[in-house]
Amino acid sequence: MALIVQKYGGTSVGDTERIRNVAGRIARTRDAGNDVIVILSAMSGVTDELISMAGKIANTPDKREMDVLLATGEQTTVSLMAMTLQAMGYKARSMLGYQAEILTDSRYSKARILDIGAERIKSLIAEGHIVIVAGFQGVDASGDITTLGRGGSDTSAVAVAAALKADQCEIYTDVDGIYTADPNICGKARKLSRISYDEMLEMASLGAKVLQIRSVEFAKKYDVPLHVRSSFNEEEGTMVVHEDANMEKVVVSGVTHSKNEARITLRKVPDMPGIASRILEPVAKAGISVDMIIQNTRLSNMTDLTFTVPKPDLAAALEIEEKIAEEIGAAEVLGDENIAKISVIGVGMRSHSGVASKMFATLASENINILLISTSEIRISCVIEEKYTELAVRALHSAFELDSA
Ligand code: ADP
Ligand code: ASP
Ligand code: MG
Repeated sequence: MALIVQKYGGTSVGDTERIRNVAGRIARTRDAGNDVIVILSAMSGVTDELISMAGKIANTPDKREMDVLLATGEQTTVSLMAMTLQAMGYKARSMLGYQAEILTDSRYSKARILDIGAERIKSLIAEGHIVIVAGFQGVDASGDITTLGRGGSDTSAVAVAAALKADQCEIYTDVDGIYTADPNICGKARKLSRISYDEMLEMASLGAKVLQIRSVEFAKKYDVPLHVRSSFNEEEGTMVVHEDANMEKVVVSGVTHSKNEARITLRKVPDMPGIASRILEPVAKAGISVDMIIQNTRLSNMTDLTFTVPKPDLAAALEIEEKIAEEIGAAEVLGDENIAKISVIGVGMRSHSGVASKMFATLASENINILLISTSEIRISCVIEEKYTELAVRALHSAFELDSA
């Protein structure tokens, strides 16, 4: 008898019909003689809807209350799933984050899992239950509800699989696996049969939302092989595993895009030592991570400073910078949400040159202007205007010879 963790994403439990379909899969896994723990997301669109409602009430809603609100999405699906399985004659029990003792730190909306009290889940399993755990949510040391950041149910699943030493961790989603680019915008993207944790980490951090980055970190650290596959068919998906010698060695293995960033520009900042830290430190202190930074020198000791932050943090970051701008005498603060970050990724870049110039030339040939650039050993990222996202991904996917035949 194996212990199997299955996670189903928002589209897979998007309505009661789909919940019934997923219940069928869970039941078949159970009938095959396995113990099953299921992690669920909210129905697709629900988390977005809750965020939008809060946005209508407050510009920067209270973070604690925001997590109380967002956690309701997953509460709906786990209870409906438990009822569905019970109606089919199975013993099933739903658990919210605090009941499953998913202990996190107190960073609301981006909490990290510190520990999982596996005993409670274990005893329910021992009693013969299928355990349905609400993804995305936990509880901090003072008993407050926390959430793990967008896509956080993936991390809930891997953390539960690691804590209970599950034999398998399956991530069921709305695509057949992990592709060389988002298959929903690049028709020629190829499904990978296997991918290394390191490449997946890079892809996830650069916008491939098929797995939340923290879930891949956990999986790598605790040796949890992940099987990413579709909940709508029986196809084998993609295995995320440790790198081995048989893996494809290509210069560029994938193209990703992220529409999750926004840029802030402070115009006509007095150009003097310490100014960058004066502008960026308060943002970091507020727990907002700054990604790319660029400084343009102007005439007469003035400079423009531009940086990017996650889109959900834009309002809070702008509020901070408006105060700073006043203090340091900058001319104005501009926010721009209509940007996208396009990246090419591949461990082969370590030993190959010319990837950056090929990327720039490809974007130029499509008349796409590059606003910001950043590089690491195994990736190059360019920020462009959001409206060119799809075009840029497809052009780069072809240019780096990733297209399926
Ligand atoms: P779920 O609700 O199941 O968690 P998500 O929407 O979070 O699903 O993630 C699945 C989506 O990830 C796909 O529908 C696809 O559009 C997107 N995606 C982005 N990059 C990739 C990629 N390289 N391979 C597969 N899917 C990707
Ligand atoms: N419901 C949450 C979200 O939409 C968590 C998840 O789906 O993984 O981000
Ligand atoms: Mg997801």
